[in-house]
Amino acid sequence: MKKWSLKVKLTVLYTFFMTLLTCVSLAILFSLSNQEILTSVQSDLKEQVNGGIDEIEIKEGRLDVDSDFMDLDQGIYLSLYSEEGEFLYGRIPYGYENQEELKDGIIQTIEGSYGKWYVYDVRYRLDGYGTLYIRGVTSVTEAENSIRITLRTALVILPLLVIFTGILGYRFTRRTLMPVRKITETVRRIQKDKDLSRRVGLGKGSDEIYQLSDTFDQMLEQLEEAFNREKQFTSDVSHELRTPVTVILAQCDAMLSSKEISKEEFTQVKMIRKKAEDMAQMIAHLLLLSRADQGRQQLTKEMLNLSELTEIVAQEQQLLAEERKIRVYMEIEPEIYALADESFYIRMLVNLISNGIYYNREGGYVKVILRQTETEVQGIIEDNGTGISEEALPHIWERFYREDTSRSDSSHSGLGLSMVKWIVDAHGGTIRAESRVGEGSRFFFILPKEKK
Ligand code: ADP
Repeated sequence: MKKWSLKVKLTVLYTFFMTLLTCVSLAILFSLSNQEILTSVQSDLKEQVNGGIDEIEIKEGRLDVDSDFMDLDQGIYLSLYSEEGEFLYGRIPYGYENQEELKDGIIQTIEGSYGKWYVYDVRYRLDGYGTLYIRGVTSVTEAENSIRITLRTALVILPLLVIFTGILGYRFTRRTLMPVRKITETVRRIQKDKDLSRRVGLGKGSDEIYQLSDTFDQMLEQLEEAFNREKQFTSDVSHELRTPVTVILAQCDAMLSSKEISKEEFTQVKMIRKKAEDMAQMIAHLLLLSRADQGRQQLTKEMLNLSELTEIVAQEQQLLAEERKIRVYMEIEPEIYALADESFYIRMLVNLISNGIYYNREGGYVKVILRQTETEVQGIIEDNGTGISEEALPHIWERFYREDTSRSDSSHSGLGLSMVKWIVDAHGGTIRAESRVGEGSRFFFILPKEKK
């Protein structure tokens, strides 16, 4: 049952109960009507036999029976007997053996080789003639046959009724659950496209599911507003912070170039400058991401020689890596061209390679691999550094996510990989990471060659 959809479950339940109800009603109806028919056959028989008395009279000392006596009314055969049981007059149905004793006022049920019969006799004293018996015979088998035929027809109709009820129930349930399906589809689309502007859009209705869908739409509306406010806030804050940070940097530069500054002051101002630089970079990342969120960040794509560009970036990073005795290797296929935004491609590589250096140990390495197929560019940035734990791996693309928050380096705020992910997505590519704690990490990116 667990694997079945709600639609199927409701249909099965509905069909089962409808069938059960129909079967029980039919069974009750048949048993009642069976009894009713047999009782009415018996009372008809009695009535006809008693009515037959009126057809007999004595005329000129002889027995005179009206021709109505021979009528086959309601399938009842009437016959006349002397007190000794001798047949005098009347009709006997074909197949009835007529061997029963005459018993006054009792309905006998006789099972013969041609079926079942009800036999009813009435003793009657006819003035001027003597005692007579009137016998009525009617077939029970015929009455039962008509019930049996109706039962058989019902048994043929019942499966058809079950199928019809099932189809009807399924269509009805499908229609009723349609809003639930729409809600699920909307949520899936929102998850897939990260587009909160989607709505179920069924409008208002009095039924509970329509109310649910309407409430859901209202909730989405509020969520979208909240997200937009948050995006706007991030964008405003980053804008507002840009100017003071630029001023701090400029002031630091001015102080550092002044001849009057002492050695101690120089070190302190240099420290301030480094932190202000980290802050400026963080603000730049934030601005980029908030512009990307609002769909305002455009790419300027051109045909680039990615082999050359990658080599230049890797060489630059090598200089920084040397301070920490880390080597940067390159395995770059020549002449790889693709449509890409130069500054964003550089930012992406810088982030991936600098992470490989930063989360590494003395004597470690970072390997930069770039190759191509007919349609795409494949890159791998591999290191043998600290690695990322299995629990942290799915979260590294989230904003401000840092596995080890005890590191106090302000240049690593946890925004780098979310920016890398946006850059790859914006180029129509994909990126994923593999890692093992203590062994190192591998970042695989794929960029299409021609996507505009
Ligand atoms: P950060 O600015 O802190 O480096 P990122 O978004 O670049 O932020 O990375 C998020 C987190 O992923 C980092 O805090 C770090 O824990 C982990 N990480 C990223 N790259 C690597 C790597 N090459 N080796 C180990 N951990 C990494």
